[in-house]
Amino acid sequence: MIHLKSAEEIEWMRESAQLVSKTLGMLASEIKPGVTTLYLDGLAESFIRDHDGVPGFLGMYGFPNTLCMSKNEMVVHGIPNETPLEVGDILSVDCGVLKNGYYGDHAYTFSVGEIDDDTQKLLEVTKECLYIGIDQMRIGNRVGDIGNAIQKHAEKHGYGVVRELVGHGLGKQLHEDPQVPNYGKRGQGKLLQNGMVLAIEPMINLGTHRVVQWKDGWSIVTSDKKPSAHFEHDIALIEGRPVVLSTFDYIYEALGLPKNDPVYA
Ligand code: MG
Ligand code: MG
Repeated sequence: MIHLKSAEEIEWMRESAQLVSKTLGMLASEIKPGVTTLYLDGLAESFIRDHDGVPGFLGMYGFPNTLCMSKNEMVVHGIPNETPLEVGDILSVDCGVLKNGYYGDHAYTFSVGEIDDDTQKLLEVTKECLYIGIDQMRIGNRVGDIGNAIQKHAEKHGYGVVRELVGHGLGKQLHEDPQVPNYGKRGQGKLLQNGMVLAIEPMINLGTHRVVQWKDGWSIVTSDKKPSAHFEHDIALIEGRPVVLSTFDYIYEALGLPKNDPVYA
């Protein structure tokens, strides 16, 4: 069942999404060679609690930490550990919070020092996929239009689109209806409606779309061990157009990058 949100609920959700954005922004300047993902996880948990939130993933379905930290060939759901980051790694940091009864859930893939050109391109195209998908979140469109746009853009570059994991509705629950695949056919799936809040999250692989799960029951990795990228935003459909509730601007500020992500009219 799809829970449409009132304007007031969407403002609460913006606050939750923004707390995730600020957490990712705080982490941006801490992610460097030699640092462990477990250390970063501790920083994030303290930051969220200091800002009147609760880590949204901790204990969810039994997940043991605050952040999903997925390095290189890992797609999503990596468990923070004691292995230091190295120059050339990429790291997807996926963060959830619960604040005022509503979840925020978004993600960014960071590079650790210099990375190779192919991986850099993968990061750029995956972020483009996210914004191309968001642009489809308009009245008259269906969920399949979002996935179709993401899939087309990724496959144009020869990349693999992960099938087993999808975006989702977001609200009082971390995972609500509808599911939002990163692939699909135009004009198929649930009709988009004002008041929907979706977490759109392309997971795009440099090589094959195929993935396998580690024996830890969590970590999802590419089956060819080539890198995978992941970017996620929380978006409300308001008066027929997408309004992004989360932002990467705190990350850009920390890293000295231009803030020029699209704003939708
Ligand atoms: Mg997420
Ligand atoms: Mg999500």
